[in-house]
Amino acid sequence: MDIPLVEERPFRYRIDRRDPMRVPGVVFATPELLPQATGDKALEQVVNVATLPGIVRASFAMPDVHWGYGFPIGGVAATDVDAGGVISPGGVGFDISCGVRLLAAGIDREPLAPKMRRLMDILGDTIPRGMGRGGLWKLSGPAQMEDLLVGGAGYAVEHGHGVPRDLDRCEDRGALPGADPSHVGRRAVERGLEQVGSLGSGNHFLEVQAVDRVYDEDTAARFGLHDGQVCVMIHCGSRGLGHQVCGDHVRVMDQSLRAYGIRLPDRQLACAPVVSPPGRDYLGAMAAAANYGRANRQLLAEAARRAFATAAGAGLDLVYDVSHNTAKIETHEVDGARRSLCVHRKGATLALPPGHPDLPRDLAGAGQPVLVPGTMGTASYVMTGTAGNDAFASACHGAGRVWSRHQALRRVRGEQLRDDLESHGIAVRPSSWRGLAEEAPGAYKDIDAVARATEGAGLARPVARLVPLGVVKG
Ligand code: 5GP
Ligand code: MN
Ligand code: MN
Repeated sequence: MDIPLVEERPFRYRIDRRDPMRVPGVVFATPELLPQATGDKALEQVVNVATLPGIVRASFAMPDVHWGYGFPIGGVAATDVDAGGVISPGGVGFDISCGVRLLAAGIDREPLAPKMRRLMDILGDTIPRGMGRGGLWKLSGPAQMEDLLVGGAGYAVEHGHGVPRDLDRCEDRGALPGADPSHVGRRAVERGLEQVGSLGSGNHFLEVQAVDRVYDEDTAARFGLHDGQVCVMIHCGSRGLGHQVCGDHVRVMDQSLRAYGIRLPDRQLACAPVVSPPGRDYLGAMAAAANYGRANRQLLAEAARRAFATAAGAGLDLVYDVSHNTAKIETHEVDGARRSLCVHRKGATLALPPGHPDLPRDLAGAGQPVLVPGTMGTASYVMTGTAGNDAFASACHGAGRVWSRHQALRRVRGEQLRDDLESHGIAVRPSSWRGLAEEAPGAYKDIDAVARATEGAGLARPVARLVPLGVVKG
């Protein structure tokens, strides 16, 4: 299908509303960043999302947009809770609460250099990853799981996995409210018991990085960052538990579509009114899985702290932890009225502007850190939210894929990639050659271009650019 795009202004395209769309589409991009790989149906998906009952303003796509399950990855859609608005598991994604956590090390790049090899060896040996392997924290059983699903990162901190200050720097203080473990199925719990504190598969990683450019000294300092500083970026989600929750609830919603009179252009958009029983059940289960993802990142951060203490005698302070696969009930002004909205961000990050009441107090003047991983061979960005973001205060979550995993495997050999990265001074601790090849830097859009487009579109602005020193790959 050919989707006509109208360039409204630089970095912003509109897809005009036509039946059965309820709102227009808005794509933040440059011509180069538009999804154009053959078979990438992301723009069609932007159109499909625009048909959802109760959607307001527009179906948005961030500059890193690409094809996903039902919704595009890099998609943002808000529905009006009190006007029949729906919630869709496909608008959150299978890896519920997948997200990024950034820690700032008490050491700079130069003094770390001689200790880097030992540090990477410890990280490589102690960070659980790959498909089957168990996590750092084996839960005692379903009762303890229930507490973790409600308490999120806070539950981990209560049990000695971290310090209270960590929670000041977590989105929602580490726990999404409204978690309802009774709607997390038995199989999901079983899968989750063994996996708390594990990275998962190839796109997930723990990366040692250095700040190589600061765009705004003052904001960087408030985030705890300076030029030359070492950082740790952790990207992972809710593992088998989140995946199972998504699958279980997609099935239920698929069967309830007719009862709610919902017609969809794509069954992968299965959804239900937020206020219906299946909607409420999913929302509660999704929040629980989100909290699992947050506890997961808390455990991995603790493992990184132990490695840094041993290898470098340095501490790690949390800069921020943000999820990029969520649906949250938020209040926004739409057409002059304050409305309760269900905001789906799938492969998109909340980007609160300075002065927002949900910000940690010490970041009130700076805005929310927006954490944007790029690739293990290029760069990543720390950005901050800006005022006037009409995509419900959302920004990009990464560089975004241009090659499918399959295409990457055809073009790249894992061993060769490892050698290339090592020859550029980037230490690599892969868990499989295949997983490494799938995540080759060439498989992603140009992160610098994505960051420029994100700024140009008024979604967020850059604070610091980070370059990889070593990567532990899922
Ligand atoms: P996703 O959540 O969509 O799987 O991935 C988010 C983003 O992480 C991707 O769009 C990509 O830009 C980035 N990414 C994937 N692997 C790596 C890595 O090893 N290092 C860094 N810095 N970024 C990565
Ligand atoms: Mn994920
Ligand atoms: Mn992710």
